[in-house]
Amino acid sequence: MKFNTKLIHGGISQDQTTGAVSVPIYQTSTFAQTVLGGEPAYEYSRTGNPTRLAVEKLIAELENGVAGYAFASGSAAIHTVFSLFSAGDHIIVGNDVYGGTFRLLNTVLKRQGLDFTAVDTRDLKAVAAAVTPATKAIYLETPTNPLMHISDIAALAKLAHNNNLLTIVDNTFASPYVQRPLDLGADIVLHSASKYLGGHSDLIAGLVVTKNQAVGDQIGYLQNAIGGILAPQDSWLLQRGIKTLAVRMEAHQKNTQQIFEFLQQDPRISKIFYPGDPTGPDYQVAQRQMHGFGGMISFELTENLSVKKFIESLKIITLAESLGSVESLIEVPAIMTHGSIPEKIRLANGISNRLIRLSVGIEQITDLLADLKEALQAAQTK
Ligand SMILES: *Cc1c(COP(=O)(O)O)cnc(C)c1O
Repeated sequence: MKFNTKLIHGGISQDQTTGAVSVPIYQTSTFAQTVLGGEPAYEYSRTGNPTRLAVEKLIAELENGVAGYAFASGSAAIHTVFSLFSAGDHIIVGNDVYGGTFRLLNTVLKRQGLDFTAVDTRDLKAVAAAVTPATKAIYLETPTNPLMHISDIAALAKLAHNNNLLTIVDNTFASPYVQRPLDLGADIVLHSASKYLGGHSDLIAGLVVTKNQAVGDQIGYLQNAIGGILAPQDSWLLQRGIKTLAVRMEAHQKNTQQIFEFLQQDPRISKIFYPGDPTGPDYQVAQRQMHGFGGMISFELTENLSVKKFIESLKIITLAESLGSVESLIEVPAIMTHGSIPEKIRLANGISNRLIRLSVGIEQITDLLADLKEALQAAQTK
């Protein structure tokens, strides 16, 4: 089955008892057992629920892994994955990760004894130099948020395996339509499914897929032990969203390419961060490991323009956190998504106070371009 067909028919796509073509929402906490001390397929919904299982089997197939797990949020998924490690363990982490991940690592997990080194994971030498006898894993995002840095997953996975480390990739920004880290050698791939997988700004969810069963079993154990599971209603909604991933991603990517070309020729734009920029530093790697360049683009306006006026003048593109939805969303990372990162670290990593991040939706491109043009005009007037 090809990827686009798997989106519709993969995992468990129909109800196995009634034939309902949409997997029902099994809104139940517990399941009647017929024999005492037997081994029922389902016993309690934290441990397993048929609606959740359907989306878990689906994401495992989409990422070409063996075991999938669904969580109440991307953050819960990330927390569960880091629960594989113990006090004293060291993990190398990309230096441009999601603000919430940065907060989880630095204010929660550090306190519990995990040790982290932040490295630009595009720099293989720097990653190799950061490995210590206590290192257990490399954790990265590619493309990164919000600077769209691209790391070479295959090269990092090779380095990791040579050092007996797990490679963990947050694939939220690409989605499995655009990039499949397990195929490139990663051990664990995870998602904030609140973004492209859900796709409609109506859901908070997280997903984890592992390449081998042993790591999968550990994640399954932790999912049940910690309990941050995705509820049946949201599991159903997520599966419904995933069905249209291919058509949505094609539309996102097409619109984003056109917005890139528009921004590139406008003298009021001073910087652009987009994996599909042929003059960008990571273009070759992006071309090699991604199927298209995704639907995210960041940029800066020239100093004489007001960022506030620009953003507030937009009529279709919505000022909001989050990304990966059918509607275009815009934000200023320094104030919004990355506000929890201390300014000094943020600036050192290249996230200026004027950086704007745009999640390009699937609206008619002419409407989006007109909206951007009018707002740029408004941003010029004092
Ligand atoms: C949003 C996001 C998360 C966190 O996911 P939630 O579903 O909001 O908890 C993690 N990683 C990336 C890259 C994200 O964009």
